[in-house]
Amino acid sequence: MEEAFYGEKLATVRPDIVLGCGDLPFDYLEYLVSMLDVPLVYVPGNHDPSLKLPDTTWTPSRHEPPVPGPQGCVNIDGRVTEASGLRIAGLGGSLRYKEGPNQYTQGEMGRRVLRLEVALRLKRARGGRKLDVLVTHSPPFGAAEAQDAAHIGFVGFLRLIRAFKPALAVHGHVHPYGRVIPERLIGTTRVVNVVPWSLIDL
Ligand SMILES: [Zn+2]
Repeated sequence: MEEAFYGEKLATVRPDIVLGCGDLPFDYLEYLVSMLDVPLVYVPGNHDPSLKLPDTTWTPSRHEPPVPGPQGCVNIDGRVTEASGLRIAGLGGSLRYKEGPNQYTQGEMGRRVLRLEVALRLKRARGGRKLDVLVTHSPPFGAAEAQDAAHIGFVGFLRLIRAFKPALAVHGHVHPYGRVIPERLIGTTRVVNVVPWSLIDL
């Protein structure tokens, strides 16, 4: 796997946190979290399985069902979390282009963004900011070069970034195929396509 960040290469970096932007094998994420021993937060991509918890309403059990997804990693899809001194929000998935999990229309994602906005507004600002990092699978609308329907990105992300001005917005989904994709700015927010991987100083 080309995007793999294994072995010696891994030993040369000392990140404070790992942000997974989706469509990465779960065993790869588990490998990273075990080797680096720092928090790993991630969102699912459109090629990942559904991470919805199984409905156990009618099968009461004394045992907690296992959390789906890579073990030792934190799924922040649709959630706000604090890790390594940063407040981080996540939204996984891509624009719907076929049957399957982790795909949304612009309207569906807009409602997911709205719920996240409400959660963020209830938080106290830290350092003048209610959000430090936004982790998504798809890019904000128009931020990537890709213009086709599956990759053009979500309008709601643009709104979220403009409203909360996080220092950093990272996304995956758009494959650079060997080219270097330059960082973009939306207002003061750095927008980085991390595929296949990026080391980012904040
Ligand atoms: Zn994708």
